[in-house]
Amino acid sequence: MPYEPPPYDEPPFDPYLDAPPPDDWAPPAADASGPARRSARVAAPGVASGVRPSVYATPLEALKTVYGYDAFRGDQRQIVEHVVSGGDAVVLMPTGGGKSVCYQVPALVREGTGLVVSPLIALMHDQVDALVANGVRAAYLNSTQAPDERARVERAYVAGELDLLYVAPERLNGEQTLRLLERGTLSVIAIDEAHCVSQWGHDFRPDYLALGGLGERFPGVPRLALTATATPETHREITERLRLPSARHFVASFDRPNIRYRIDAKTEPRRQLLDFIRSQPEGAAGIVYALSRNSVEQTATYLAGQGIDAIPYHAGLDAATRARHQSRFLREDGVVVVATIAFGMGIDKPDVRFVAHIDLPKSVEGYYQETGRAGRDGLPAQAWMAYGLGDVVQQRRMIQQSDGDRAIQQRQGQHLDAMLALCETVGCRRQNLLAYFGQASQPCGNCDTCLTPPETWDGLVPAQKLLSTVVRLKRERNQAFGAGHLIDILRGASTDRVRKLGHESLTTYGIGADLSEQDWRSVIRQLLARGLLVAQGEYGTLALSEASGGVLRGETPVPLRRDVIGRASRSGGGARKASAADQLAPQHRDLFEALRAWRADQAREQGVPAYIVFGDATLRALAEHRPASLEALSGISGIGERKREAYGAAVLAVIAAH
Ligand code: ADP
Ligand code: ZN
Repeated sequence: MPYEPPPYDEPPFDPYLDAPPPDDWAPPAADASGPARRSARVAAPGVASGVRPSVYATPLEALKTVYGYDAFRGDQRQIVEHVVSGGDAVVLMPTGGGKSVCYQVPALVREGTGLVVSPLIALMHDQVDALVANGVRAAYLNSTQAPDERARVERAYVAGELDLLYVAPERLNGEQTLRLLERGTLSVIAIDEAHCVSQWGHDFRPDYLALGGLGERFPGVPRLALTATATPETHREITERLRLPSARHFVASFDRPNIRYRIDAKTEPRRQLLDFIRSQPEGAAGIVYALSRNSVEQTATYLAGQGIDAIPYHAGLDAATRARHQSRFLREDGVVVVATIAFGMGIDKPDVRFVAHIDLPKSVEGYYQETGRAGRDGLPAQAWMAYGLGDVVQQRRMIQQSDGDRAIQQRQGQHLDAMLALCETVGCRRQNLLAYFGQASQPCGNCDTCLTPPETWDGLVPAQKLLSTVVRLKRERNQAFGAGHLIDILRGASTDRVRKLGHESLTTYGIGADLSEQDWRSVIRQLLARGLLVAQGEYGTLALSEASGGVLRGETPVPLRRDVIGRASRSGGGARKASAADQLAPQHRDLFEALRAWRADQAREQGVPAYIVFGDATLRALAEHRPASLEALSGISGIGERKREAYGAAVLAVIAAH
């Protein structure tokens, strides 16, 4: 069967919404003849009382048998045990930390069906595919399904034949779905991406608010709320709004140590991006984020013209094109998606090697979530951003001109300030990021500022020259200008505009010739970022802020970060970096490549992404340990019972042929 990429259910301006149930919907008749059973580990025939009997004695048995993992990671064991024994939990864990296991294993161990509230259809499809590949009876209910398919899932649920059921929050707002759920038995309720309940967060979904009522509706069913991005404030909101007053809280470090962060000054964004991508391993998949659809299209075209396998993704493309592009990204090696933020939530692809931002994200939460899509598999990954004066001016202007009320504008301003502080810090990027999420840490050694500590220089005098030019123009001529013309005045440039306006006669004309245009842009950008200068109106004309006086009087010190230009290209060099195989000892590489080729054939035959067959980490372990029997295969992480049955013989043959 050819692979039909999961439809990315994205109406033009909201990538997340599922449709409410149709009007002609009726609860299914209880019926024991459910869908064909996918797993060998199923209830005995005839046990269709509406309760899925537990088949795994302990969480560890489920973990080993289903996923093929030897041990729980981090807090997983404590979380699973707490939920299995009926407790509620709030789980903050970074992307790639292993949140799924925290609710899937309790659902496999407790009697009944685990309900998973998931905000994005693509995410449900991915997770259900991965579960089914492991022999778990999982299904989803959403608007992409034909009525008879939906009815089949509903019947299976009522008959107690599902281990896990994924549902969008919109659907749980309807009485019909709730009544359906009451007819079966729930083992646990998991609310994924729980930060969507936060009104001030960047992903607010009104339908999440109603999820607070699930506790009353299904008393005695343990509930978990999970997220990878929560400030202390969002954490509090999750607990209150989802009504989890007696939940245990599991807060893991948000750190993603395998991601290297780097933020460069923007000079020639396209060229810089190209250099960055060329410095990545051969065949690396990546995402490039841009703010506008236009910029997405142009960047994708530019990269494609340079020989990069780049494709665009934004809400303006028709659904078929989006689905095709998403599917290529998931299934093929080395595809770079250039996208707006409409892309990515719910993309479970574990081997995304880099995430690049060519425009400044609107908040640290957004930045952290987007960059967090790199390196879920724990292998080295890169988060790179180019950021410049234009970004600051543009975003301040967008906030001023947004039609939100003052409180919203103020909040947007705070989000931007935090983002700018991250960009301009001379300290460790990771420390800054983690502090934003309320976690203290040491300098990381794996970000640009740790690896190449930036120089600082005293910018007081240039700042005074600039501010006094702004003041004079305002006082003497009632004029205001953007950065470009001010720099021309300071550097003593003789442009048409300078001559026409008679700006050669200003006392500050030419007093800043000691700095290059690039230096001046850096000075202005940093002053704007710190609020020592403001950009106003449609053209981003510069004006003094309340804090500017301190600089003019020489009371406010102005230490500035010296921009390092073109670091990306220099450190990247011409040649591509190590590929996944190169990270293995040389004697294992051939086998790894042979296994990879076998996996690609399998994936193509079944029409699924390669990582649904086996992850890279599993292939590496196979290449290193060369198991020679089916028993020995069980010792490899990522090979559970189902996959051993399905692929064991073939994998052993590939190894033996070596
Ligand atoms: P999250 O939802 O928190 O982003 P996932 O649940 O997708 O993370 O897990 C991230 C990766 O870690 C997956 O590739 C998963 O298979 C792997 N993983 C999770 N738990 C374990 C474990 N106990 N042992 C080995 N691998 C694990
Ligand atoms: Zn660091």
